[in-house]
Amino acid sequence: MGDTSAQAFLQHLRAIVGTDHVVTHEADMATYLADWRGRYNGRARAVVLPLDTAQVAAVVRLCAGAGVPIVPQGGRTGLVMGSVPDTSGEAIVLSLRRLNRIRTLDPANRTMTVDAGCILADIQAAAERAGMLFPLSLAAEGSCTIGGNLSTNAGGTAVLRYGNTRALCLGLEVVTAQGDIWDGLRALRKDNTGYALRELFIGAEGTLGVITAAVLTLYPAPRGMLTALVALDSPRRVLELLNLLQARCGAALTGFELMSAVCLDLVASEFPALPQPFAERHPQYALVELSSNESEPHAQALLESGIGAALEHGVARDAVVATSSQQALGLWRLREHIPLAQAAAGKNIKHDISLPISTIPDFIAHTDAALERAFPGCVLVTFGHLGDGNLHYNVAPPAGVAHAAFLLHQDAVNRIVHDAVVAFAGSISAEHGIGAMKRAELARTKSPVELDMMRAIKAALDPLGIMNPGKIL
Ligand code: FAD
Repeated sequence: MGDTSAQAFLQHLRAIVGTDHVVTHEADMATYLADWRGRYNGRARAVVLPLDTAQVAAVVRLCAGAGVPIVPQGGRTGLVMGSVPDTSGEAIVLSLRRLNRIRTLDPANRTMTVDAGCILADIQAAAERAGMLFPLSLAAEGSCTIGGNLSTNAGGTAVLRYGNTRALCLGLEVVTAQGDIWDGLRALRKDNTGYALRELFIGAEGTLGVITAAVLTLYPAPRGMLTALVALDSPRRVLELLNLLQARCGAALTGFELMSAVCLDLVASEFPALPQPFAERHPQYALVELSSNESEPHAQALLESGIGAALEHGVARDAVVATSSQQALGLWRLREHIPLAQAAAGKNIKHDISLPISTIPDFIAHTDAALERAFPGCVLVTFGHLGDGNLHYNVAPPAGVAHAAFLLHQDAVNRIVHDAVVAFAGSISAEHGIGAMKRAELARTKSPVELDMMRAIKAALDPLGIMNPGKIL
């Protein structure tokens, strides 16, 4: 695009969304172009902030006509370099942050219709005000948007009971890559009228179209919730505890997180003000949450009987049960501060993987040993949503090795971990997505048949290839 047509393109954008909502100064664009993990900064022609679906559609039509790539962006908390553009400066960033209205809430149908730019915590709060629960919960909930959650099919801490974002969405409104508006905002639990188009856009990371609104599923708010931290010997014991609690508590078990001792050491050193519940260091910990639709005493009775049995049968070493919501928050804070402590301690090599739950102890033993052989003394920061088979399996440098120097081994480390994931029939991305970061690994680990089907879908829905190019495929 020549200088004159580039200027004309910007003028058209301003005519659609208003001059104040087309950002072009380098300094003003900087935050929109920075990857959350601080690994990379992209470049863009402009950051565009439309107000509503009609403006989104007009912007996409303009871009399609001019062949300008579009990078949809929500809260920019994604961890795989999906919501920032490349360094060519060709793309626009399309920020959905001004589409932030809660459109309707239907308690009897247990649904809520929201704009894509609504912050997750605001959606949770709106559900709570109506006496209901929107169960999607993750540490970035104060700044991530529902459009981003849907586009990455985010998981979080309540998947065990309520499923991931896909399971919490009944309908979508989407602006297609041609700039048409698809009104698929159906609030139906059953709808077998052909291909499940909604499912294509969920988890597509903005590569097929722009999600502008969604119908979300709500649940009755639990009447009692209890949290406990259980200390254990090994990942195998943690798995035994999961099975024991699932057998005794069924659907009341709403959270089950694994944290290794290294994780809590890291949190203690980076955030010394956070209280540590055990005087003694234990090899592994499970953070357990139970919810009851009956009452707090019911939740307490279930939890105490489950943990009591685990202690009695030698599955668990020790346990603390939070006796107030403040204490429960304190236990969850330990879990939520692990990624923040890692970021503060220096960059490491992260993996967001999922495995058949039964294989997790063997996977950890096998892969820890393989990494130790290749990089003696490397530090494994292993935590995650064990109840969903999802591990955040992160590799930090050995003592005395600079973080930057260790990052040079990223490809070799990824290969060891992802080859093990494939050998154990797992997935190289459980909940964060592929973005630009895992594209090469996706191509290496997925079958040609599956990749061909994905390319065919991309070509059918985005024939010009303008939607978030360079991400996923
Ligand atoms: P962005 O980062 O802005 O975008 C993510 C992707 O979605 C990009 O590819 C972008 O192009 C696309 N996109 C965004 N909005 C739209 C839209 N409206 N239409 C089309 N495409 C769009 N993730 C989990 O799953 N579970 C966790 O437990 C979890 N914990 C986290 C903890 C921390 C501290 C942080 C920083 C992140 C965590 N994440 C987690 C990752 C991240 O929060 C999620 O991926 C979140 O869903 C991203 O939402 P966002 O609005 O920030 O999206």
